[in-house]
Amino acid sequence: MVKTTEDPLRVLVVDDEQDIRDGSERILSRMGFEVLKASRGEEGLETIATTEISIVFLDLKMPGIDGLEVLARIREMNRKIMVIVITGFATVETAIEAMKRGAYDFIPKPFEPDQMRIVANRAREKLLLTREAELLEQERIKTLAHLDTEKSRISTIIKSLPNGVAVTNANGEVVLTNPAFRRQLGLPSDKTAGGHISAYIDDKDLCQLITDISRGKFIDYEEIPDYEVNLADGKFLRARSQPVVGDRHECLGAVVIFENITALKAMDRLKSEFVAKVSHELRSPLSTIHEQLALVLKDAVEGKDADDQHLLSRAKEKTQSLIALIGDLLDLSRIEAGSVSLEPKPLQIETSIKGIVEFLMTRANTKDQKLLLVGPKEPLQPIVADPMAIESIFGNLISNAITYTPEGGEIRVSIESAGPNIRVEVKDTGFGIDAKYLNKIFEKFYRVKDENTRYITGTGLGLPIVKGLVDSMGGIISVESIPGEGSCFTVLLPV
Ligand code: ADP
Repeated sequence: MVKTTEDPLRVLVVDDEQDIRDGSERILSRMGFEVLKASRGEEGLETIATTEISIVFLDLKMPGIDGLEVLARIREMNRKIMVIVITGFATVETAIEAMKRGAYDFIPKPFEPDQMRIVANRAREKLLLTREAELLEQERIKTLAHLDTEKSRISTIIKSLPNGVAVTNANGEVVLTNPAFRRQLGLPSDKTAGGHISAYIDDKDLCQLITDISRGKFIDYEEIPDYEVNLADGKFLRARSQPVVGDRHECLGAVVIFENITALKAMDRLKSEFVAKVSHELRSPLSTIHEQLALVLKDAVEGKDADDQHLLSRAKEKTQSLIALIGDLLDLSRIEAGSVSLEPKPLQIETSIKGIVEFLMTRANTKDQKLLLVGPKEPLQPIVADPMAIESIFGNLISNAITYTPEGGEIRVSIESAGPNIRVEVKDTGFGIDAKYLNKIFEKFYRVKDENTRYITGTGLGLPIVKGLVDSMGGIISVESIPGEGSCFTVLLPV
């Protein structure tokens, strides 16, 4: 254990002359040393082996083992002990030899008290300085070790963060990134720090913002805006940045956190679409109902009964479409929540579809359309399905075909067996759908808006409901269409 500077240093005087030992003890103890004495080399070595000694005054000429030998043994035992040799004038050479072998200093014999004091003081100073240096070194190692653990702990935490982190210096150069950041931005996992932020992020405005923050442009942090990045792969990230401030309040750079908000954005979009759609769809029929009812009431007063019937039936139609919209919304939310309670039972699909076709025939007739049902060549195996689901799927498809086919067109519904499946095609000679919309029409609320569909009302929920039901039955739905010629929706249902 290293002694602190407050502890008295222990000195051992090894000399065969009693006077020298006692004289030295007097001088040294007055100087504040704790003094031990030995009259022979062996005795001195024993003391050194058992007691902690800092300085040894060692007579070179002693009976028994001589001083040089004792010095060699001390050096072997403990390299830190400072040995000062005491030697007669005649043996200056020996003193020099002793210095070569590791003694710290020497005093000639006989010596004045002052001479001893000077040498002892010098040794003490040297010792204390060495100890201080040792303490400082230990402190430094301890601090470094502490810093190292702290550093690795922080770096492990940053590496494991689910959000992307990038840190820049005052020039906007990246000094640190974590794996989540590299993943989110599609950067190679071994992309190292070092380049300007613009080498990591394509969005110029965001790079400018981060560079400005890094340079210390923002004094009020509240002013720093959150930034939304739209990545090429359709993902959305929200970047939140803060300056990194040093001890003297200088700006050292910026730290940016990236959060994946793709799901939030999608929800947000759907929510707005939903609200817009619902309010739009509810507003106009409701106002019509309102106006018409107002008229009916007015006419009732004036007694014009014939027109009332017409107005009332229009009001009924509008309420009907509102009820349908609400019904669609409810169906869809149930299908999406997985809580649609299908009650499957064995049924002949051609019989179910025949019923639907017959039901919709009146609508087709009012548009002068041919609605044909082409049955299978051979009787089909029954399928196990919920009759309500079958009705909803094909009711929607055939009703769409009637709606999106001009007057005089043709709708052909064909049913046939296809290996382990039953294939039902609903083919029309209608407006058709442009290829770029084909995968969109199964999205909620999506409606193609063009010259042909402009005056057709609908919710955009029919096909999502159809797809949701077909999926839940383990089937597949696909569509082919040529604008101006017609569309063909194909449903494959497992037997
Ligand atoms: P809605 O019919 O209420 O608008 P759907 O989800 O049933 O909603 O259909 C979405 C869109 O797909 C329709 O607005 C229409 O543009 C298009 N579409 C559906 N069926 C046909 C079809 N048979 N022919 C042409 N377009 C169609």
